[in-house]
Amino acid sequence: MPGCGATGEYRAPKSRTTLNEYWWFCLEHVRAYNASWDFYKGMSPGEIEAQLRADTAWQRPTWPLGRIGMTAQIDPEMLRDPLGVLGAGRAAERRSHGEETPAELREPLATLGLAWPLTIDTLKTRYKELAKRHHPDANGGDRAAEERLKTINLAYATLRGRLASQPKLAATG
Ligand SMILES: [Zn+2]
Repeated sequence: MPGCGATGEYRAPKSRTTLNEYWWFCLEHVRAYNASWDFYKGMSPGEIEAQLRADTAWQRPTWPLGRIGMTAQIDPEMLRDPLGVLGAGRAAERRSHGEETPAELREPLATLGLAWPLTIDTLKTRYKELAKRHHPDANGGDRAAEERLKTINLAYATLRGRLASQPKLAATG
């Protein structure tokens, strides 16, 4: 692996088509190479490294970036999440896993900018807000605004109908 100072004691085939040609890696890098065999097949170690750098948002490399081959500890700075982005993402994931969004409601929800699950009060509040904003009278009789309002009305009717057909949850506390 470029920049790696460790002895290349472990071999791995270069690709599926050249199984008798090998790259030689240290233990850490042969593991990384083998783990990503399917995805990175046929790429040279340099290409794999470039790919890992490009995809850091989605893939977690097995060693700190920019320190390939160095025996550095993971810098705590790399694990900081000052904006709470990672935490917020996880919280949103937990919420959305609570109740799956019904497929037929995805479009109306997107139209109104709402997320499932939803209460009738939230729906009504959001609808009033949008209806006011997109009302043709508030937009100088704009035809496009009229079309948007029709779409909003339809989305509202669909969601209201769905919520009305749900069994009422008993209020607690
Ligand atoms: Zn190595």
